[in-house]
Amino acid sequence: MAVDASTPPPSTPYWLKQLRRSSLVVLVAGVSLGMLVAMHDLKLSSAILVFFCIAGVSLVPLQSRDGVRARETNGGERLTEGVAVRAVIGAMPEPTVLLDRVGRVLHLNAQAAQLAPALRRNELALFALRSPEIITVLRDAIATLQPQRVTYVERVPVERWMELVVMPVVVPTEFGGSDNCFLMTFRDQTPLRRAEEMRADFVANASHELRTPLAALSGFIDTLQGPARDDVKARERFLGIMHAQATRMARLIDDLLSLSRVELSAHVRPEARVDLVAILRQVIDGLEVLAEERGVAIDMQFPQEPVYIAGDTEELLRVFENLIENGLKYGASGGKVTVSLARGESPAEIRVAVRDYGPGIAPEHLPRLTERFYRTDVGDSRAQGGTGLGLSLVKHIVSRHGGRLVIESVFGKGATFTVCFPPMVSSSGV
Ligand code: ADP
Repeated sequence: MAVDASTPPPSTPYWLKQLRRSSLVVLVAGVSLGMLVAMHDLKLSSAILVFFCIAGVSLVPLQSRDGVRARETNGGERLTEGVAVRAVIGAMPEPTVLLDRVGRVLHLNAQAAQLAPALRRNELALFALRSPEIITVLRDAIATLQPQRVTYVERVPVERWMELVVMPVVVPTEFGGSDNCFLMTFRDQTPLRRAEEMRADFVANASHELRTPLAALSGFIDTLQGPARDDVKARERFLGIMHAQATRMARLIDDLLSLSRVELSAHVRPEARVDLVAILRQVIDGLEVLAEERGVAIDMQFPQEPVYIAGDTEELLRVFENLIENGLKYGASGGKVTVSLARGESPAEIRVAVRDYGPGIAPEHLPRLTERFYRTDVGDSRAQGGTGLGLSLVKHIVSRHGGRLVIESVFGKGATFTVCFPPMVSSSGV
């Protein structure tokens, strides 16, 4: 079927159609009333009065309840406009509703229908949208013809922060007049809110973590300048504590900087060929003193020959330092930490497991362990010089390497932290 895309023939102007219709009505009314007067069924004065009434009414232009719908039904061009408006609303990515000047629904897209299933075309939106915030802004927009915006919380089916914007839209009508419609657009602000909350929490936590050792340092400085000025024994002890607190602050700052560096490059996979066996040996060598201090033996179960993956040496050193150090600190009572490296069959991956035989971790803590600043026992972590950022850093580094971190623990029987890396693709790999 051929479609004529050329300019459409000019349609009869609306006012001319109106005039034709009025003349016809006036003509029919005149003839009928004349006949009634001729047959003496009606007085001439009454007939004249009725005639003028009918003529007056017939001259009132046919106007539908709203400008946009009158335009839709008046001729092909207007129909096209209506269809175009509906198509535009339908294509809007966010829930969008077009209302007429009294707040009746003219068009709505599928997203809006899903958000507010009670919304129906040709019905007042105020009856379908129950939230008091929405009703208030809608009423204000209709009364003032000014744009309105509100943020409110949707509780069903899940809690969501929504923003509603109501924009008045001026629509030109016949005879050079204008009418108003309202465009309602809903935006889901939940991800933005969550990110803001997380940022605020993070700043609050980081400040709190820094303030604690700082307060201890200031306290000891005051004591050393005052009452303990000449107490050599106390001075030695206080300086030891001050050193530990300063080290904790430095560690916290290091961890924060490492986290932000890893986050910045989160989407860039490291490509260097690194030997996991060498990295594990280097970490274990560095932790020998701590292991001795805690009376823990480190059992190494990995091959002599190199095992290569695509990675970043510095970041992988941080991963295994954190995991093995945690095993030595929190699992010291088990007397042993096993570090093993094995190749998984399905899926084919390289797994490094750090297992301790200490008190383990209660199941309710497991899902939250990699959250920043989360600890099962804040006091214990601080006493061990912990920052609560170690496992969060581990998780970020591992996912940047395309790997995953699995935490398993039976409360009272130790914990196992397994890092799984994808194998190196190149033929010169392992
Ligand atoms: P921290 O700096 O406090 O060690 P991490 O992020 O490394 O921070 O660890 C978070 C918390 O997880 C620790 O405070 C501790 O409560 C718990 N945890 C980590 N590893 C172990 C482990 N091997 N055994 C028991 N608890 C652990």
